[in-house]
Amino acid sequence: MELVDTHAHLNLPGYKDLPEVVARAREAGLSAIVVVGIDLKTSRKALELAEAYPGYVFPTVGVHPHEVKNLNEEAYRELEALASRAVALGEIGLDFAKEYSPRELQLEHFERQLSLAREKNLPVVLHVREAYEEALAVIKKYLPLRAVFHCFAGGVPEARKALDLGCLLSVTGIVTFPKAENIREVVRFAPLEALMLETDCPFLTPVPFRGKRNEPAYVRYVCEKVAEVKGIEVSECARQTTENARAFFGI
Ligand SMILES: [Zn+2]
Repeated sequence: MELVDTHAHLNLPGYKDLPEVVARAREAGLSAIVVVGIDLKTSRKALELAEAYPGYVFPTVGVHPHEVKNLNEEAYRELEALASRAVALGEIGLDFAKEYSPRELQLEHFERQLSLAREKNLPVVLHVREAYEEALAVIKKYLPLRAVFHCFAGGVPEARKALDLGCLLSVTGIVTFPKAENIREVVRFAPLEALMLETDCPFLTPVPFRGKRNEPAYVRYVCEKVAEVKGIEVSECARQTTENARAFFGI
């Protein structure tokens, strides 16, 4: 069984045991890990990890909506250079739930990074919280665009609109949480061809390891739950979501 963790933050502190983490991922059947940047520092680190694990770790670069308040022209020059070595731009988007950066700035930098993705012909990894309508309206302006809603947290109506624009939805360990019936409803609704699996590690550790640090190997538990919810074989879920991930990121 082949799996891909399409959203891991092995570039964040807390992975001093990285060689063991990667070994366990290989052991669990992962054929690739996509390491996602949230600012310039973690984007650089994602590229470094990709060099350390060629053909296994793939990097994305981008500035998370929480962090866009720190962006300036110099930062954009570096981001553009880093993007030339990445498999996607992200994570970028809108977070109106936390609003760590003002909304106007989030919108401005979301658009600017979408332009950069278009220019570099890169897919985008989206972080959207409580801003689905706004995000979809912006995305429409940049079509055609390959985009995935990382850790999709909307309901079926938002999922339908995202799928109509050709976007993919990505599922985390939240799908295993007892209270996450809304996410399971979206998983049931969306075609398997539009789903990708991720851990978002070190966050969102799935059952049965909830409360511990998350790591790519645990994407297996996400796959098992998605298969259960959709009433399909785990192997079929792994096969199709891996194919989706390979096509999306071009890896
Ligand atoms: Zn993330």
